Amino acid sequence: VLFHTPPGLELALRQEGIPCTRACSQTRQGLQAGRFVLYDNHRISKRKLHSLLASGQVALDIHDLRQVMPGVRDALAALVDHQGAPRLWQYGETRVSETVSRFHKPAIRQRLMHRLRTLILENGGVWVRVAPLPYPYRFAFNWRLDLDESGHEEDTLTTLAASRDLADCTTVFVCTSAYQSYHRVWSALRGLDVQPHGHYHTIYRDPRANLHNLERSVRTLIQLGFTPSGFAAPHGRWNPGLNHAIETLGLSYSSEFQLGHDDWPSYPWLGDRFAAVLQIPIHPVCEGLFLESGDSHPDHLTSALLSRINHAETAGETAFLYGHPEKRLGRMPEIITTLAHRIGQADRVWRVTMSRFAAWWNWRAKRAWKVYPTGQNRLFVQFAQWDPRYRISLEIDRGDHTANLPMTGPTCELHLDRLAYIRKQPRLDDAHPAPAPPVLAPRTWLQNWLDWERVTPIPELPERYWRDRLKKQIRRWRDPQTSRVPTS
Ligand SMILES: [Zn+2]
Repeated sequence: VLFHTPPGLELALRQEGIPCTRACSQTRQGLQAGRFVLYDNHRISKRKLHSLLASGQVALDIHDLRQVMPGVRDALAALVDHQGAPRLWQYGETRVSETVSRFHKPAIRQRLMHRLRTLILENGGVWVRVAPLPYPYRFAFNWRLDLDESGHEEDTLTTLAASRDLADCTTVFVCTSAYQSYHRVWSALRGLDVQPHGHYHTIYRDPRANLHNLERSVRTLIQLGFTPSGFAAPHGRWNPGLNHAIETLGLSYSSEFQLGHDDWPSYPWLGDRFAAVLQIPIHPVCEGLFLESGDSHPDHLTSALLSRINHAETAGETAFLYGHPEKRLGRMPEIITTLAHRIGQADRVWRVTMSRFAAWWNWRAKRAWKVYPTGQNRLFVQFAQWDPRYRISLEIDRGDHTANLPMTGPTCELHLDRLAYIRKQPRLDDAHPAPAPPVLAPRTWLQNWLDWERVTPIPELPERYWRDRLKKQIRRWRDPQTSRVPTS
């Protein structure tokens, strides 16, 4: 039971798959719904809380969990942080940079959950969770392609052809203004998981501009016979106004590394509620970063992508990789065939599209279930509204061992002594990105202030505020040739 706890804790518990419920902080309704009550002693005193609890309930103060991560002032706040920052990855001689979430959230959550699990076990509890993947999968793989730029139809066709053996786990996000006249590409996309990447390849500060841009790309895809259910923002950028646009259009998921990467999905915290749109993190290192850093050797990029697959396979995580065809993967398709071969050899990998993965995770998030002790080392597990659509499994931790038990119906009795435990994989630390030196250039500051981009045709730029009008005027000076009204 969560009582007066910050949203970061609930977000992490739901990713972890721990059954939890939030008690109302005013009416206290639901406060006695579970054995362990997590609270923050800076928001309600231990004495006051104890007077509200039933006998047998255990109150656990979570305030100190904020300091679980060295160098992070408040780990619980970091888990719901929205800000991006430049980060560096080192692969051999090559160092690549991308703007991603400024906190490495999976590492924070793992430390947080380790500490909480220790607290629960010390107080006589058990640590039982719904596994993050359906039974019997060990890790998940997705191949994401972002189609951004016009003028490179052949590269895109080559990339799609090279991705043929990954068709069941490929998701393509298409920038519809760039591709609308490429009929051969649309034919090649038939049968794949095809989703919008905006009409123009940008994210605006203005929520109305985002809604308009996203709505146009959704409409175009529907007209072409596709069924949009998700979105990926250009440059991995995210803001609450963008979330609002995605919610308004009824899409169920989005994927932006400004919020997180190499992690399980979550519903971003919006300040007063969790978003309805699921956020699916990917691995943010793509071929473009290598090319930008001056390394165009396909083998280097292949080994960087394979290293994420190796890590995900060992640690039981996701390897959601992404790339771009134009002037890039279309000229080095051997990277894709190597990845396809590697995944084809993997055991118990869930080859999954983003849309199918979102459907699973949204379904998992709705499971309501309880665990009761029924005797010494015996537990009774009960799921409400059993739905056999996916085969879920429970993971039960004991010390550094874990048991995995597929559920075959809405209830089961667990004899903790009779489960087959295996030693947990030691946590491998993937190449965690390092902070990049801050960019203090006035030019960057000015570009942010103007919400600068050069992909929206000038006649379509908004003129609501004087800052909009200034941007439009500068664009007219810089790009006089695009001042004409576009033909479509
Ligand atoms: Zn893009």
